[in-house]
Amino acid sequence: MRTRESPVLRDIVFIGGGHSHAVALRMWAMKPVPGVRLTLICTDTETPYSGMLPGFIAGHYTCEDIHIDVRRLAEFAGARYYRDGVTGIDRTNR
Ligand SMILES: Cc1cc2nc3c(=O)[nH]c(=O)nc-3n(C[C@H](O)[C@H](O)[C@H](O)COP(=O)(O)OP(=O)(O)OC[C@H]3O[C@@H](n4cnc5c(N)ncnc54)[C@H](O)[C@@H]3O)c2cc1C
Repeated sequence: MRTRESPVLRDIVFIGGGHSHAVALRMWAMKPVPGVRLTLICTDTETPYSGMLPGFIAGHYTCEDIHIDVRRLAEFAGARYYRDGVTGIDRTNR
C-alpha cells in the first residue's frame, strides 16, 4: 500500500473493475510500486465472477457469492475509487 509520506510521481488509472483490474488490484496490494497513485473508476461497485455464473444459475451459489466488491479491493490496494462511467480520454493533456 502507498504510504502517506511518499510523493505521487505518477498516476495510473484503471477504467472498469472487471476481471483484469480486479486481479491487478490484488497483485498491487501485495506489491505496490512506490510513488505511483492508483485510481479505479468503475460503473459498478460489485463485479461478477463470470466463471461462477453457471453455478449461480444452477443454485449452488448466491448472488453475493459470485460478486467481488471492487471498492473494498481498491481500498485494500491503497487505490482511490470512483463509482462513475468514463466518457472519454484526453490523451493530448494526459
Ligand atoms: C458467462 C461467462 C462465463 C465466463 N467464464 C469464464 C471462465 O470460466 N474463465 C475465464 O477465463 N473467462 C471466462 N469468461 C470470460 C471473462 O469473464 C472475461 O474474459 C473477463 O471478464 C474480461 O475481463 P475484463 O476486465 O477485460 O472485462 P470485464 O470483466 O467485462 O469488465 C469490464 C468492467 O468495466 C466496466 N466499464 C465498462 N465501461 C465503463 C466505462 N465507460 N467507465 C467505467 N467503467 C466501465 C464494467 O462495468 C466492468 O466492471 C466468461 C464470460 C462470461 C460472459
